[in-house]
Amino acid sequence: MSEREGTLTRRNLLKTAGAAAGVAALGGCLSGDGTDSAPSGELSTAFGNCWMCSHNCGQKAYVRDGTVVNLTGVDGHPRGSAGPDTEGTLCPKGLAQLDKTHDPKRIKEPHIRDEDGNLQKVDWETAFDETAKRLVAFAEENGAETFLDATSWAETDIFRTVWRDLYGSPERISRGIHVCAGPTFVTGGMMGVGSNNRVPDYQNSEYIIAWGRNVLNSFAGQFEAKGVLEAIEENGATLVTIDPQHTITAQKSDEWMPIEPRTDGALALAMANVIIEEDLYDQEFVENHTYGFDAYREAAAEMPPERAAEITGLDADQIRRVARGFAEAAPQAGISVWTGTAQAGNGWKATQNITALNGLVGNIDRPGGLRLWKYPATASFGQVCEEDYTPRAEYKEPALKKYDEYSDYPVRHIEGIAHNLVPEMVENGHINGIVCHHDDPLKDGNADAWVEAIEAMDLVISIDAYWNGVSRRADIVLPEATQLEKDTLGTGNWSAYPNHKWITGSKAAVDPQWNTKPDFDILTGIADAMAERTDNDDWTIFQQWDSHEEYIDDQLSTLDLTLEEIDSGETNYELLEEYDYEQYGEDFTFRFDLDQVSSFATAAEEAGMDTAPEWIPPGTYGDSTSEAYPLEFTDVRSVFFSHGSNQPHERLQDQFAKQNQLSEEDYRGNYLYVHPQDAEERDIETGDLVTIESESGSGELMAIVTERARPGFVTSQYGFGQTSAITTGEDARERSADGMNTMTLHDTQMDPITGQVDRHIAVEVTPAGGD
Ligand code: SF4
Repeated sequence: MSEREGTLTRRNLLKTAGAAAGVAALGGCLSGDGTDSAPSGELSTAFGNCWMCSHNCGQKAYVRDGTVVNLTGVDGHPRGSAGPDTEGTLCPKGLAQLDKTHDPKRIKEPHIRDEDGNLQKVDWETAFDETAKRLVAFAEENGAETFLDATSWAETDIFRTVWRDLYGSPERISRGIHVCAGPTFVTGGMMGVGSNNRVPDYQNSEYIIAWGRNVLNSFAGQFEAKGVLEAIEENGATLVTIDPQHTITAQKSDEWMPIEPRTDGALALAMANVIIEEDLYDQEFVENHTYGFDAYREAAAEMPPERAAEITGLDADQIRRVARGFAEAAPQAGISVWTGTAQAGNGWKATQNITALNGLVGNIDRPGGLRLWKYPATASFGQVCEEDYTPRAEYKEPALKKYDEYSDYPVRHIEGIAHNLVPEMVENGHINGIVCHHDDPLKDGNADAWVEAIEAMDLVISIDAYWNGVSRRADIVLPEATQLEKDTLGTGNWSAYPNHKWITGSKAAVDPQWNTKPDFDILTGIADAMAERTDNDDWTIFQQWDSHEEYIDDQLSTLDLTLEEIDSGETNYELLEEYDYEQYGEDFTFRFDLDQVSSFATAAEEAGMDTAPEWIPPGTYGDSTSEAYPLEFTDVRSVFFSHGSNQPHERLQDQFAKQNQLSEEDYRGNYLYVHPQDAEERDIETGDLVTIESESGSGELMAIVTERARPGFVTSQYGFGQTSAITTGEDARERSADGMNTMTLHDTQMDPITGQVDRHIAVEVTPAGGD
């Protein structure tokens, strides 16, 4: 019987037993397990590929007695260095892999929730068998198509094989699209330059615009920051930062444009206005390789710099100066853009208008401009699988398209299920279960509704290294090995080598600690147990590989390489085929106007949006400030923390407090940055605990009063809080390290085209009455 149908629901169980279960589970985490004695044996080295932020900076691990005692970068590594003969390094969160691997706060044993609602430790055989039993029961009672795959970036192909092809669920939340930078990725694809439109060819650039990006502090691999610095040093490149905050990148920039949040689309059009009016654009490229220029020209004509100055709060002369500088340096001019402009309700048009500037100045796939990066082609799961299997979700229609309840969401035409809609779909009974891998959706938007949704679901499986908002509420908890405890393979595109495809691989540096397993072994265990419990022979397909290394070797067969070959020697990467600039050929078309893309045209019509570049003011989609909530809040990333997965590390918390000059305080959570003017009006000083409140929720943070925040705009780091990865909560300092999950302020606001979570929220801030 489904628990939903009975009198005892999972939610009731969790309410009565959740606290006790959490304590029991965490008690187990603190039991020591032999990591206390200092290692003293011989020192050996191994490699790793950092996936704390998923971008594979190469690591050299120093190991003594089965313990990683030090981590450094790998010289010349494509993602971790500035290229040949340069030092490879790791950022603070990458270095924290060492802490994470041996962290006694990790989940050390598999757990299954029993009939009384308590999480009980079990051995792996029981865990796999119980997982299979509950998956079979779930499919019989609810239908496998109502099970949601919420796995993160790692080993995506095998997770998809298990949940989509073998189990039969068509439902997946795409992390990249819905919680990272959907508008940036999807507009790039539709305009013709692909989703890699966010990473320019830094080293060869003479003019770099960090647009809504703090690229010297938050990057997709160390090569980004190094590439920017190299361009400044070697080419005398100009660096411009467009950001409401005076970030570390802004401090190093020639120009800082302190833009009013969510007005980037107006600025981009105004720059186009200047470039077109002054004939600074690449007429040959526009004539031969673009579509929709007339519509673009019209939109730009309506946005002279003076109008944009009023909208953006910037100076019209500065807009002109930057527009000219960018166009005159082109094609050696690149725009670095990612989440900053994408995580807004009007983010689609902002990124379309910004990407259009590249086509206008013709920097497409030219040195120093927008590079069309290339991947090496490894073999997919389907290619290396020697057994036939039936893809069981192939003809299943996802609920978002199937049911009329969701017809108001244009998003369903473009990218399927959106993160913020999941709670509503659970309420409607269209989603009844979830598997979360290395991910905690509670930190990514609509947090309180997500908590209720997780508690209401009939089956929750968590595959993770830490107790977090999902694993604490799960029915099945499968403790995952960390990256240094498993084999990895990274296939890259953008990097310090703009002319090479490349690959990076590593074997596990140490054995899985405690009773944990790599994700490949966890999936294999589930598949084997499903083969036992069902008459579906497809579940035996993982049995053709004895190890993850064998599977990786099969993937590498297209490149005539093995993991052993990549991992041995002085480095753990290989530079592969060289490729040139301007690969696009004569028939290439860059689309300013997207009316040719029928899926977008339909969605845009439903959203009341034009297909060509245009200016869409803040509040058209998403929040507007009001008398009750006069401040605009958005959360940001920090070089110390990544996606809620390493926030429990004390070393990073201490470094972060030190950077913010608050290490003397006991508080170790995230901080709220407030402009002095807003702080004075509210009687707030640095170090005060403040309450931040939106229409949807509230929480407490420690305030930092700083002129580096724009007046009317407050920010904090995301990924903290009791609904995210947690600390032991043993004393005041540890409890405060939880900080606040900023997404408890959030509701369902999103970009209507991609379903991207819009993290801009109207809030009020008041003293909390303590410090
Ligand atoms: S940028 Fe930092 S966190 Fe990301 S992969 Fe590189 S070292 Fe790891």
